[in-house]
Amino acid sequence: MDRLHGSARLMVVSDLDSTMVDHDDPDDISLLSFNALWESYYRHDSLLVFSTGRSPTSYKLLRNEKPLLTPDVAVMSVGTEIAYGEALVVDAGWEEYLNHKWDREIIVEETSKFPELTPQSEIDQRPHKVSFYVEEVKALAIIDVLAERLEKLGLDVKIIYSSGIALDVLPRGAGKGQALAYLMKKFALDGKLPANTLVCGDSGNDAELFSIPEVYGVMVSNAKEELLQWYAENMKSNPYILRATDRCAAGIIQAIGYFGLGTNVSPRDIKDFQKCKAEIINPGHEVVKFYLFYERWRRAEVEMAGQHMQNIKSFFYSLGTFVHPSGIEQPIHQCIDAMESLHGDRQGKRFQVWVDQLSSAQIGSDTWLVKCKKWESYGEDKHCCLTTILMSSKAEIPNEFIWLHMHQTWLDGFGVKQPETWLL
Ligand SMILES: [Mg+2]
Repeated sequence: MDRLHGSARLMVVSDLDSTMVDHDDPDDISLLSFNALWESYYRHDSLLVFSTGRSPTSYKLLRNEKPLLTPDVAVMSVGTEIAYGEALVVDAGWEEYLNHKWDREIIVEETSKFPELTPQSEIDQRPHKVSFYVEEVKALAIIDVLAERLEKLGLDVKIIYSSGIALDVLPRGAGKGQALAYLMKKFALDGKLPANTLVCGDSGNDAELFSIPEVYGVMVSNAKEELLQWYAENMKSNPYILRATDRCAAGIIQAIGYFGLGTNVSPRDIKDFQKCKAEIINPGHEVVKFYLFYERWRRAEVEMAGQHMQNIKSFFYSLGTFVHPSGIEQPIHQCIDAMESLHGDRQGKRFQVWVDQLSSAQIGSDTWLVKCKKWESYGEDKHCCLTTILMSSKAEIPNEFIWLHMHQTWLDGFGVKQPETWLL
């Protein structure tokens, strides 16, 4: 969170399963579209928060499986765990707060008296979350009786039923909504309350997010009945909540536009990059566009025309160098020439390219240092390079950039076995 010097321009707080991630879309089209939008226009001055029912272990599994960006904050296990940054640094203050009137052992013992409750797997059982599966028809009655018994035993818990199957027992102070309220209070104390916040969800455990005052909300088009019903009963005609007509991440993008929170056209959804201009000087935007072009080139989604490569080449300094992750140094133009021959080599195959954690720093009057993680997935393989690019802005057109030098190193565990198969 210390990444930003001031208040975030926008904070997006999104659920993952069936909100940010569409499990019915094997090509992750809308997720990749959100990624390109976020890295191009928001990463440098905004905050991304994932708020998921998943435990840290199952959250990491999802991150391996899907092209998810690295969020600034991960709220996991239905708002019972808050962690920051790539390293998932735990918020110990939140943990301590949740210990109030909470005794896991008593809850495990009491819930074991309900044979209808099937415990979820071990990885989903957490210090402040006891989780079960239960049929919808039985859930309501159990919730009432269980809540009363636990209260008599001096505990203060809340029981959340979600997705027509999952029942979670949490400390009263926990939950996605409370965790967000806690984060916002923290930001306010630091004088860094985001200018705008957009919460995004699809199911019952997301309802709390929509109750936080002064936030915009989007229920994606595929939202579950339980959330829609809660909305109809509690939030009807709240102008700050949108029922999107688009699914999952596309619904989030739709809401950004609907509420006027910023640019809502992803570079990924623009065919002609000439028309895709950043409103502010932002070299990161160029990196996103270049790698989108690279993906389209190798998938043969742009035609094999010499003028494309000439145009691309004109953005690379003729004497610039590229240090390949294998350590071999070569002229950067040579690398672009090699790209020309790869036109269509990934055609008709599942080949995806995206960048994550893009940052740029102006280090001279017209010089910028851009860093990102560049990911490439092909079939089942997934590779990543820590990428550093030195760029200079063109004097006559300040938001056009020349790539001077480029350096890549493998991200631990994501290198390729045959380095010659990685271009740049
Ligand atoms: Mg969900």
